[in-house]
Amino acid sequence: MCKSKVEGGLGIKDVKLFNWALLGKWVWRCMLSPGMLWAKVLHDRYGRIESFSNCSNVDRRASWWWKDIVGVLQQGNFWLDEKTERCIGDGTMTRFWENKWIGGVCLFDVFPRLYSFALDPLSVVADNGTWEGSTWVWHVNWRREPFVHEGRSVNTLLDMLQGLQVISSRQDYWRWIYDKDGVFSVKSAYLWLQRSVGGELRYSSDFQLVIKSLWKCKAPIKCLVFCWQVLLNAFPCKSLLQVRGVELDNNFCSFCSLFVEDPLHLFLMCPMTFNTWLAVANWLEVAVVFPNSLISLYLYWTNLGIYKKHSHFLRVVWVSVIWSLWLHRNVIIFQQGTTNCKEVLDNIKLRSWKWINSSVPGCSFSYTSWYYNPSLYFS
Ligand SMILES: [Zn+2]
Repeated sequence: MCKSKVEGGLGIKDVKLFNWALLGKWVWRCMLSPGMLWAKVLHDRYGRIESFSNCSNVDRRASWWWKDIVGVLQQGNFWLDEKTERCIGDGTMTRFWENKWIGGVCLFDVFPRLYSFALDPLSVVADNGTWEGSTWVWHVNWRREPFVHEGRSVNTLLDMLQGLQVISSRQDYWRWIYDKDGVFSVKSAYLWLQRSVGGELRYSSDFQLVIKSLWKCKAPIKCLVFCWQVLLNAFPCKSLLQVRGVELDNNFCSFCSLFVEDPLHLFLMCPMTFNTWLAVANWLEVAVVFPNSLISLYLYWTNLGIYKKHSHFLRVVWVSVIWSLWLHRNVIIFQQGTTNCKEVLDNIKLRSWKWINSSVPGCSFSYTSWYYNPSLYFS
């Protein structure tokens, strides 16, 4: 009944969702005008706006209006936080480590180790780079020199920052991603809430779930960052390179040469990839069904196990599959290799064994037994 008439409903307003959208407008105003007197009064009284999404303890003496506002932030899987993007202008108003300004994640969550020895954990984006001529160069400052084993994470962080630069002519700003001009409106928010919380679109909250879980995986950080880029469709596969205007001989899949190489094909739909997932499932002795997105595949795959330990192992294997397929694809392109499912499977086994053995305390088992009988570790 609450769907629009065009969609076959009666167009009756869902009062609860409409109220969320109205309250969302207030939050949006607070975020846009932190310098206004009324916003400062609210900050002093109740806390800073930037910590809105973490604001779980509302002062008992707070007004009903304020309680409603904080309440709406926690509804629908933090819908407002999730759909509002921090965009970088001059980088002076956005915290480098603690705000979500890059790919929907806080760098603090991705690199907790680096954060622990950052020179200023509260630094803003602009503090972490300088202009050299007309080029912005990132210089993240540390309290001490990173150790050798931390160097790789530092490089991965710099890889993530590569290509991003501050724009000195404008301030940092917020963008509501469901409007072409990036401006929040009650109408667009209501429409989105209706579709999302109403149950039609679950993709986005699933994405958040996957990202949260992915960063906890005990694989090397560069592999996690790669998986994160895959889920965001932001990695150099052929179809995405073409969109960016890179000239290529062809855009066919490097494994099968039959279809366009896009993220879904490369990591799920390609016959070679599909067979690899099947072989991995056989090896682990689990039955799987294949959904039609990588996000769903991750959620499904990591929930195969009944116990927590299983989901940890399965996460590692999932990352190992994606990473091994990618490296194999690069060998084919750059070293004239040939498609070899068996080789990929062996690499998946070896990598997952190494990662689990080196990262899980008290977990030590032989490669041979992992290779031939991984189900021992799932029971
Ligand atoms: Zn293919």
